[in-house]
Amino acid sequence: MRDPFEGRVIWFLTGTQDLYGEETLRQVEDQSSKIARNLDAADKIPVRIEWKPILKEKEGIRTAMLAANADPSCVGVITWMHTFSPAKMWIAGLDALDKPLLHLHTQANVALPWDTIDMDFMNLNQAAHGDREFGYMCTRLGIRRKVVVGHATHPEVQAKIATWARAAVAREEMRHMRLARFGDNMRYVGVTEGDKTEAELQFGPSVNTWGVNDLADAVAAVPDDVVAALLAEYDELYDVAPELRDGGERRESLVYGARLEAGMRSFLEAGNFTAFTTTFEDLGALRQLPGLAVQRLMADGYGFGAEGDWKTSILVRAAKVMGYGLPGGASLMEDYTYEMTPGKEKILGAHMLEVCPSLTTSRPRLEIHPLGIGGREDPVRLVFDTDPGPALVVAMADMRDRFRLTANVVEVIPPDQPMPKLPVARAVWLPEPNFQTSAECWILAGAAHHTVMTTAVTREAFEDLAEMAGSELVVIDSETSVPGFRRELRWNEAYHRLARGL
Ligand code: MN
Repeated sequence: MRDPFEGRVIWFLTGTQDLYGEETLRQVEDQSSKIARNLDAADKIPVRIEWKPILKEKEGIRTAMLAANADPSCVGVITWMHTFSPAKMWIAGLDALDKPLLHLHTQANVALPWDTIDMDFMNLNQAAHGDREFGYMCTRLGIRRKVVVGHATHPEVQAKIATWARAAVAREEMRHMRLARFGDNMRYVGVTEGDKTEAELQFGPSVNTWGVNDLADAVAAVPDDVVAALLAEYDELYDVAPELRDGGERRESLVYGARLEAGMRSFLEAGNFTAFTTTFEDLGALRQLPGLAVQRLMADGYGFGAEGDWKTSILVRAAKVMGYGLPGGASLMEDYTYEMTPGKEKILGAHMLEVCPSLTTSRPRLEIHPLGIGGREDPVRLVFDTDPGPALVVAMADMRDRFRLTANVVEVIPPDQPMPKLPVARAVWLPEPNFQTSAECWILAGAAHHTVMTTAVTREAFEDLAEMAGSELVVIDSETSVPGFRRELRWNEAYHRLARGL
C-alpha cells in the first residue's frame, strides 16, 4: 500500500495579540516554533508538523484557516494560545475551518521558575488562561476538536497527537476515497444496507457498483507472466497444500486464484479505488468466490466488505490508513460462533474466506476446500490463527437519520484447542467487560455482525476519527454496564437528532 502519510502535513498555529510589544512577540515566535519543531521531530508522529507565523488578529486567523482548507497536503491544524489571544478574533476563522482541529494545551517551560519568576514571565507564559479563553469559544461555537494537555516533549502528549494525526490522515483519505462494489448487497440482509449519499456527505467515500462481469473481463485479460510471478510469490510466502503445488493435482485452481488476484488489482488500480466489496450471490463469469485474492488485497491496504457490505469496507480501509507502519493489522471480521461453557465464554470470529493475513505474524497455509454457497468451483484461501493481543472491533450501522459506530475493546487469545478441520482464517477473543455484557450491549446498539478488527490501533484512533466526522460512536469497554449503556443509546438518539438540526 502507498504510504498514506507521505506528503501530508499538519499546521501549527499560535495565537497571541498585539498588546505585548515586539520583544514579547519575538519570544512567542521563538518558543512556538521550537514546540512545533519538537513535535515534528517526534518519531511517533507520522506526518510533518509545520509551524506557521503567529496569529494576532481576526483577518489573519481567518486567512490562515481558509488556506488550511485549500491546501490538499494539510490534514489538520494544531492551535496553541501562547499568550492571551482574545477569542472573539477566532470566531470567523474557527467557523470557516473545515479540517480537523487539535487544541494543544501546553506551555514553553516545563518547570515553573519559582526563584526568578516576574511579571515579564507571567505576561509571556499565560496559556493556562489563554487556552481556556480559546476553549470557551470552541465550545460556544460547537467546534469538534481534540484537546491534548501537557508539555510537548512528553511522550504521552506526543502519543495522543500521533494518534490524532493518523485519524486526520484517514479523514482526508476518506474524503477522496473511491469504493467499487461488485454486485449489490446480499439479498434480504438488513444491516449491510445503508444510505450511500448520506455516507458520502458525512464520511466522504464515493460508493458505486460495477457489474461483476466487468471484473471478470479484467480477470480474463491478465497476462500469463503476471500469473506466473504471483504463483512464485505464493510458493515462497505460504505453506502451500501439496495438491496446490506445482505439479499437484489441483494446481490449476491456484493458477485461477492468482489470475483472480491480478485481475481484481488491475481493475481497482485502473479506477483509483482503495476499497471494494464482493458478494457470493453475484459472481457472473468468475469461477471461484475470491478468497485468497481478497485476503491479499486487504493485506496490501485495500478496504473490503463481504456480501456487498460497503460500510465495513470503509472501516477496514480507515483502519489500514490509521495503522500504517504499526505492528498488527486490520481485517473484515465476523462474529461467527461462541464458546459458552460457563467461565470460559469467548467469541470465534471468521468469515467464509476473507480474513486478512495482516492479523498474523505466522506463515499462513494456502489451501483449497469446498464452499457450500456461491455455486462455483472450490476457492483457494489462506488459513491461520490471529496473533494473540489487544484488539478492537468496530461496526457501522445505518440508523435511518445517521450512522452509528459501535466498538468493543477485546483481547485476542489463542484458541482453547487447535481447530484442524476449520478451513478458514480466524480469531478467538475475549470481549470487554465480559461476554454477556458485550453481546447484550452490542445487540442493543443494533451493531452489525460484520466488523473491522484492528490489532494496530486502539479505540482512541476511532474516537478521534468519529469526532472529526461528527459520527456517533459508542464504545463497549471494561467500564461498560448494561443500564448505563442503554441510557447512553437513548440519550444519543436525542442528541444526534438535535445536533443535526432541521
Ligand atoms: Mn458475512
